Amino acid sequence: MDDTVHVPELVTSIVNGEAVGGDGYKLPVRYPGDGAQISELVEADAAEVDLAVAAARRAFDTGPWPRMGVAARQEVLHQIRDIIRRHADELAYLECLNTGVTLKSLRGFHVGRAAYNFEFFAEYISQSSGQVYTQTDGFQSVVTREPVGVAALIAPWNAPLALATMKVAAAIAFGNSCVLKPSELTPLGLARFVELLRETELPPGVVNLVNGRGPETGNALVSHPDVDLISFTGGTETGRHIMAAAGRRLCPVTMELGGKAANIIFASADLDRALDGALIGIYANNGQQCLAGSRILLERPIADAFLERFRERSERIRVGDPMAEDTEIGPLISEPHLNRVLSYVGIAEAQGARVLTGGKRLTNGGKGYYMAPTAVVAKDNRDRVCQDEIFGPFATFLVFDTADEAIAIANDTAYGLTSYLWSDDLPTVTRVSNELRSGVVWINTPMTRELRAPFGGYKDSGVGREGGGACEHFYTEEKTTTIPLALHPLLKFGGEE
Ligand code: NAD
Repeated sequence: MDDTVHVPELVTSIVNGEAVGGDGYKLPVRYPGDGAQISELVEADAAEVDLAVAAARRAFDTGPWPRMGVAARQEVLHQIRDIIRRHADELAYLECLNTGVTLKSLRGFHVGRAAYNFEFFAEYISQSSGQVYTQTDGFQSVVTREPVGVAALIAPWNAPLALATMKVAAAIAFGNSCVLKPSELTPLGLARFVELLRETELPPGVVNLVNGRGPETGNALVSHPDVDLISFTGGTETGRHIMAAAGRRLCPVTMELGGKAANIIFASADLDRALDGALIGIYANNGQQCLAGSRILLERPIADAFLERFRERSERIRVGDPMAEDTEIGPLISEPHLNRVLSYVGIAEAQGARVLTGGKRLTNGGKGYYMAPTAVVAKDNRDRVCQDEIFGPFATFLVFDTADEAIAIANDTAYGLTSYLWSDDLPTVTRVSNELRSGVVWINTPMTRELRAPFGGYKDSGVGREGGGACEHFYTEEKTTTIPLALHPLLKFGGEE
């Protein structure tokens, strides 16, 4: 534990840069490493959500932010990037304390990514351009983009800083104001981030924070009549609920939802790299990732040897204290989530799967929510371990004989967020990648996110995309302005015959 970092006793809402509330319903905030309570969250009720939305509304309707020139807005976005970098160790520590994601990966990736999100959108807005149409004789039409208004940004618990800052950066870079609601399980890192914004020149009310459970705080936010757009990352069922509420108000949404990615490994692959990639794909971020390569499909001739190597490596993975430098997998987010992930071992066995490794809770002196890296070999892709998003360090293997069979298995899922493909045979790579029904395909690489390119899911994995151009489309309204190039004859209603 790092005694130099201040952990707040109470996490409250932040409206116009000021902490508000404090009397509401309180929820414990825990350290998944030992289950201890480390803070308390004060839930924002509908009235407090209203306060936050009103602040964002004012900042948008009458404040300077949407009216500011691009260079001035870029300057503030760069200040936000810098303040994240200056507080990188503190933010990584708070995020580790609250999520159980390893400190090493938070320092090495998540916090850097949070800073980069602001740098990326600062650069993006200086390069974006409109359109001009002159094909209609005598007229010129110009298409410009304007900010939409107040954005509700709803984040999950698995990578709060990295994911939510993408939403905040995109929303405000294009001139919107916003209200952010982190997961009630993981408010600490994002609360500190919003507090730090006070040290920049971001005008008050542009970024506001509310905390609390989904059906209370989250629901009050997404149903608020003054919210103009909703960006949600979380589970598919929650997404359905929010989209239905948004639909009644014709409020645009982006939905980044669950996944059950196929990771297809052909005999023609570089098998050492494919093994590393498969282990990263399922165990990175403690296995709690929407883009996890959780269904590993092996071509039959390589299957037995690959399974054996995967088992050996899984059993050598260092599971434990997320703050320790050499830990590779930390605890899962909560006791109920750990129990849910573990329950899939029994579900797999009942459907005839073979447990290759793991399948047990690991004890840390009886505390914390640790689980042994787990892999099962399933019988059929229709089995629940192949269809349900398990969201833990839990790999499911299947064996295939032909590329057509691999494609059919990969696509036989309700989800379609990411797919992975390992082969050095070009015709196999091109044909299979073209046939995969997912928003992202990673070939011979795990999880390389290109921020300029769209990220999002087919089918139950989402609606809409995030990324450079995709965010510009979502966070701006298009306006067509038409002007005649010369005086042209007008019909004269009621004029002389
Ligand atoms: P969740 O759906 O339980 O919660 C996500 C957020 O929605 C939380 O802030 C929660 O409080 C809020 N919420 C819940 N009910 C709500 C309601 N009725 N109205 C408004 N807000 C509500 O998801 P989670 O358990 O926090 O996160 C895990 C899920 O997120 C997994 O399914 C994972 O695949 C998904 N995820 C997707 C992506 C992606 O980019 N596609 C990235 C990360 C996580």
